[in-house]
Amino acid sequence: MLEARALRKTFARTVALDGVSAKVGKGEIVAITGPSGSGKSTLLHCLAGIIRPDSGEVSLDGRRVDTLDEADRTNLRRQSFGVVFQSGRLVPELTAEENVALPLLFNRIGRRESLLTARSWLERLEVADCADRRPGELSGGELQRVAVARALVTGPRVVFADEPTGALDSLAGEKVMGELVGAARVDGTTLVIVTHDNRVAAYADREIALRDGTLDGVTV
Ligand code: ATP
Ligand code: MG
Repeated sequence: MLEARALRKTFARTVALDGVSAKVGKGEIVAITGPSGSGKSTLLHCLAGIIRPDSGEVSLDGRRVDTLDEADRTNLRRQSFGVVFQSGRLVPELTAEENVALPLLFNRIGRRESLLTARSWLERLEVADCADRRPGELSGGELQRVAVARALVTGPRVVFADEPTGALDSLAGEKVMGELVGAARVDGTTLVIVTHDNRVAAYADREIALRDGTLDGVTV
């Protein structure tokens, strides 16, 4: 169980989150929705331990995430989380295949096995032809599918995905959602997905709607 309590986060004079609480159960698919600037990415980053809230608490199975030091948060992310960033954030010097293999290498899996596993995830997301190209040589939709492969490759307990289908047409979007939902339904992976797209939100068990950094509703 992933739990946020009374999260508050400000950037200079902008209040990005103003007292947001939410719970996400194991294997649940939760969509975070709301207008641009409502705090969706900030909430996702706080839940994933990427940024620290100014106040409030984040815990995973009863253990605090927000109070871990940098090294422990990095370890938790590498071992238990997969993240698809809104901006992609692949390593520009590495090929797509190497980017997808990276989380396995961080978890001390051997290079050969890591690259083979990475290749199979690129195939599942139908971007195997991109394996040897660097991020600068990929389209927005290809980058997005490589980023999803990278988030799923370790079989994480929780996947945090920020607009994972934003750059995709509806067919490719459904393929990506099929892989993410499959991870949740088959492997019990918890999914937290930020989306503007009603078709993506329709896959979710629950929706956390934000408005101006506060909860605008939670649907069951
Ligand atoms: P979008 O749908 O456009 O991605 P969002 O709901 O994800 O929007 P956030 O990125 O969480 O919104 O941003 C919430 C507010 O915090 C916005 O007003 C944004 O400008 C501000 N903000 C977010 N990150 C930063 C930052 N690093 N520095 C300054 N302001 C920030
Ligand atoms: Mg955002």
